[in-house]
Amino acid sequence: MSAQPTGVWVYLQHTKGDLTRDSLELIAAGRSVAEKLKQKVVGVLIGSGLESMEDRAIEYGADSVLVVDDPALEVYFNLAYADAIYSMVEERKPYVFLFSANEIGKDIAARVAFRVPTGLATDNVQLAVEDYTNPALGQFKDLLIQIRPDFGTRLARIYTPRHRPQMATVRPGSFAPLAPDPGRKGNVERVEFKPGSYPAKVTEVTELPPPVPDLGAADVVISLGMGILKDAGGHPRDPREAYGYAKQLKELLEGRYGLKTEVGATRALVYAEVKELDGLIGRSNQVGQTGATVKPRVYIAVGISGALQHRVGMQNSAKIVAINTDPEAPIFKIAHYPIVGDVYEELPRLIAAMEGTSAG
Ligand SMILES: Cc1cc2nc3c(=O)[nH]c(=O)nc-3n(C[C@H](O)[C@H](O)[C@H](O)COP(=O)(O)OP(=O)(O)OC[C@H]3O[C@@H](n4cnc5c(N)ncnc54)[C@H](O)[C@@H]3O)c2cc1C
Repeated sequence: MSAQPTGVWVYLQHTKGDLTRDSLELIAAGRSVAEKLKQKVVGVLIGSGLESMEDRAIEYGADSVLVVDDPALEVYFNLAYADAIYSMVEERKPYVFLFSANEIGKDIAARVAFRVPTGLATDNVQLAVEDYTNPALGQFKDLLIQIRPDFGTRLARIYTPRHRPQMATVRPGSFAPLAPDPGRKGNVERVEFKPGSYPAKVTEVTELPPPVPDLGAADVVISLGMGILKDAGGHPRDPREAYGYAKQLKELLEGRYGLKTEVGATRALVYAEVKELDGLIGRSNQVGQTGATVKPRVYIAVGISGALQHRVGMQNSAKIVAINTDPEAPIFKIAHYPIVGDVYEELPRLIAAMEGTSAG
């Protein structure tokens, strides 16, 4: 009889000789699941010249690392990487396999899941472990519950009861990396790469500049919503005024406090294509399920209702300030500093308070 699948595997991405932040988050996601399952977290590292990263994966919470280190794998090439991963999955049979829901993670996870074959739940924002009973299929113990926003306003809970590994991608920003423990010990195992013959090859790699605005790297994100289009009295306002306040706040936070600050927006505001905001607010500002996921030290939600699709992109921010005229707005359920009021009164007041020019 073949051994039961075991182990929570996490696919570790790296750049410039270091693990990416997404990978550190993924190790934390893996640990949260592995502890409930009483299984080990296994980091999967693929590339060339990986030595420095093996210990780092263990410091950040992996119990062991499987390393495929081969000059042929120096640059990311999905067909070769999928081969390397698939052969390890086939041989070792993990119970769970997690990838980051970023470009590379989505690309490689889908290829591996198809070959196994097993299911793939994409874009999860939470993970859980629970038993599951289905009248038609029976009882399943300790399933990975993959939790992601559905296309409406709810969170979907996805199960992979029968196939192994249970594979999922996890949205960057959904888990915080664990504090590194340089004393942590773990096993590093090297696995040989057996290349196949591929109908394509990588001839050139061009590095893209970081996104503008770089929402994910900001200490503070000031996001604007549909509430900037009218004041509390319902009178239309030129949204450039609210945008100007956000910029003023950004300059203050950066200049006086050294906090890297970016301006975000809700999808509703981006899609409204307000002509006054042309060139100021666009797709790259969008925070949420179909935009960026952010986890700044402070998130300031300005005239934003707090729909689920927005919240999943910002709810893990360390501190949330919300300005909204409606005391019942859902954003207040997660705001640490709720400000019930008009954007056009409260933003200038916030700026004045920070500048130290506030009268009260
Ligand atoms: C598949 C799918 C994906 C989606 N992806 C995203 C996503 O990635 N990101 C995203 O943001 N949304 C997304 N959405 C849309 C989401 O459901 C909401 O429609 C959107 O977030 C609402 O934006 P809003 O808060 O700006 O607008 P509204 O919901 O209209 O809220 C405006 C708020 O402003 C307040 N307000 C009005 N005037 C003022 C004032 N003068 N001062 C203060 N407050 C005021 C109101 O009380 C209200 O709460 C998605 C939807 C779907 C179906």
